Amino acid sequence: MEHLARTNPYPYDITVLGAQGSYLKTKEYGDMFDMACGIAVNNLGHNYRAIKAAALKTVDQYAHINVYGEFNIREQLKYAELLAEEVQIYNSDENKVWFCTSGTEANELAMKLALLSTGKKGFIALEDGFHGRSLGSLSLTHKPTYRVPFAHMVNRNLTVWIKPGDEIPQEYDNRAALFMELIQGEAGVVALDPEWVQYVRNWCTENEVLLVIDEVQTGFGRTGTQFAQTQYNIQPDIMTLGKALGGGYPLGAVVASSERFRSMSHDNPFTHLSTFGGNPVSVAAGTVMFRETRKVKLLQKVQDSNVLAHRAFKDFEYARLQGKGLMLGLVLNDDIDIDSVVQNIWKSGVFCGRVLYGSNTIRLYAPLNSTNSDVYNKMLRVREAVQESVR
Ligand code: PLP
Repeated sequence: MEHLARTNPYPYDITVLGAQGSYLKTKEYGDMFDMACGIAVNNLGHNYRAIKAAALKTVDQYAHINVYGEFNIREQLKYAELLAEEVQIYNSDENKVWFCTSGTEANELAMKLALLSTGKKGFIALEDGFHGRSLGSLSLTHKPTYRVPFAHMVNRNLTVWIKPGDEIPQEYDNRAALFMELIQGEAGVVALDPEWVQYVRNWCTENEVLLVIDEVQTGFGRTGTQFAQTQYNIQPDIMTLGKALGGGYPLGAVVASSERFRSMSHDNPFTHLSTFGGNPVSVAAGTVMFRETRKVKLLQKVQDSNVLAHRAFKDFEYARLQGKGLMLGLVLNDDIDIDSVVQNIWKSGVFCGRVLYGSNTIRLYAPLNSTNSDVYNKMLRVREAVQESVR
């Protein structure tokens, strides 16, 4: 009898014995090329030597110490400095970084920060967006399946939703912030239209509504630039980060101007805290990951891999590839049974899964540092596995 509680009634039933580089070592399928990367967490694959060394060095010094920002923890100060310099925040002379433990917590803090710093109430979010599963972030999520069972626990007028591409109704100008992902991962790896993104930025500025960009999934080289904001040439008022941020260890972060953070630290002290936030091991590991994923050579490689991935699926009648860099979604034709396709892909030695609610979409997130030939060959295998399932 298994005692591990799971919310998925049909778990994979794959036993992972170890993981190295781009591969998972499994009991059932042998070595599998990992095209999930822990859902955009292991951007440099598994057991990356320099990340492991940084984590071990920190473990030797301490594990958990008081991390509420009272102590000067060298690892935190360094990573905050790097992130503050790299992330582009709108109209900010100096950025600050708050560390927490996960993507959903980063969005919770972003909500609080928006409310406290604007004095306004409520949010705008996108119909196909995803920002996490704690009650605050969930209340930004439109998809009724996940939100409605808990809808009575939040103010039902808290969030209004718009469709990507649509005009924003003028009466929404009483909201504190608009939350969006630039490439909507769980919706099926759907990249927003750059022109519409600029329209949203302008609308937010004109109406004094803060723009929060959630780069939890798109961050750290996944889309071919360190952050997707570069490709969209967009500067949010607040950016939320998570997943790859900790180099494989749990970490989330919020980046905003130091002035905005004053609305919490000085005007409303202790309105957010997190016991494990900014754990020194996660921060030390994440710093190494950050330095590697901003290297031009690696980012160019991700862009080249994207071209090869598209080549592998050229003229494919059963599915189309979408997304940016190595944040890719394979959208199967409606009549194809995605579960049998995924099983076939596993048998071919590639691990992947489906996105949360882009109904017939397989997530293909190869490690960014996997070789171009590995990416190309594994994409061809995926193509063959789809073909076999259809035959
Ligand atoms: N935001 C986005 C865009 C995500 O994709 C996710 C998780 O998939 C989250 C937030 C929530 O992150 P976490 O699961 O670390 O709470």
